[in-house]
Amino acid sequence: MAEHRKRGRLDSLAALRAPNMRKALPRYGRMIMDDLPTKFQIARRIVFEPQKSMTSAAMWREHAKLMRKYSQAQAMIDEGKLDLRELDVPRFSLLDLKTKLAEDVMRDCVMCEHRCGVDRTAGKRGICGAGMEFRLTGSHVRTDYEQELTPSFSIFCAGCTVRFVECENQGNSDASAGTEWPEGKVARWAEEQHKAGCRTLAMTGGEPTLYVLNFLKVMGACRANIPVVFNSNAYLSEKAMELLDGIVDIYLLEFHYFNDDCARVLSSAPRYAEAAKRSHLLAKMQAELVARVPLLPDHLDCDAKPALKWIKDNLGPWTRVNILGGYEPSFRAREFMGMNRLLLPEERDEVVAYAKKIGLKNIV
Ligand code: SF4
Repeated sequence: MAEHRKRGRLDSLAALRAPNMRKALPRYGRMIMDDLPTKFQIARRIVFEPQKSMTSAAMWREHAKLMRKYSQAQAMIDEGKLDLRELDVPRFSLLDLKTKLAEDVMRDCVMCEHRCGVDRTAGKRGICGAGMEFRLTGSHVRTDYEQELTPSFSIFCAGCTVRFVECENQGNSDASAGTEWPEGKVARWAEEQHKAGCRTLAMTGGEPTLYVLNFLKVMGACRANIPVVFNSNAYLSEKAMELLDGIVDIYLLEFHYFNDDCARVLSSAPRYAEAAKRSHLLAKMQAELVARVPLLPDHLDCDAKPALKWIKDNLGPWTRVNILGGYEPSFRAREFMGMNRLLLPEERDEVVAYAKKIGLKNIV
């Protein structure tokens, strides 16, 4: 095993033993010990019987029915009453139905809160600029973020749903950047990297919401029991999250703004706070969650602190929260009042002290 992976594994093991991590991500802890299957491995064993010319409404009804079966199967597996090996892999599964539904959602695209309504299957492009192809700007083994999730095989998607003026990752936020990759090949990489010691497969970017369809195809082709991390700006629609239910094991969601005026001015993202709250609530219901709160200078009182208070009140004091204090003025940030400077270490200290004071107990 490569040295950086060994080091990453050791860090990760230490993080995994921490009681706070076990409280926040109990299922993940069991998956990486191979004690439990990942969600997508259960979903690919739930039988789907396609009917000729199913309407969109009929497919969503079928999806609701199969998700109930999925939930029952996962509960029995988690309680030790059912072994995954007792379930055959059918010709068509819940994953195939989700893939069909993802195409359906893209015909009138509402994958994210912009809700452009363009037909991406007919070559039209919305605000994000993404089409049907799976465009990646890179894939790397990462050991440099939340240690319990690393080493992680990270797939960097091209394009983004939100135009953050402070984005330090502009190279990844153009949907025409990068290279088109077949989903089957990405699945083979994930299998190889899992064997080589990666703990997780992370969909990141850019923004993976653009590529829910391609992501479902990757998971349909992947045979490894590798936990799936979805690292997103939390600007997803309910439909996108319904499709990801039963696939994503851990949501790594960023809560950028609590104030819609800030979101509109700094990122042209209408209804951002509403979308972020909804995404965090659904993430907690569907899977396990690590919440990130990136700090912006002069936005501690209007965005960061209210977001932390909301997290504590609505997701609970043991929610794992990473308060990100590494802000530097990148991209167009210099054009905006108060954004043209580094965040001071004492500003992060102030927010961490606030988070502890209001009762958050699981701060990374
Ligand atoms: S993913 Fe979002 S921004 Fe892109 S086309 Fe769909 S609704 Fe529009």
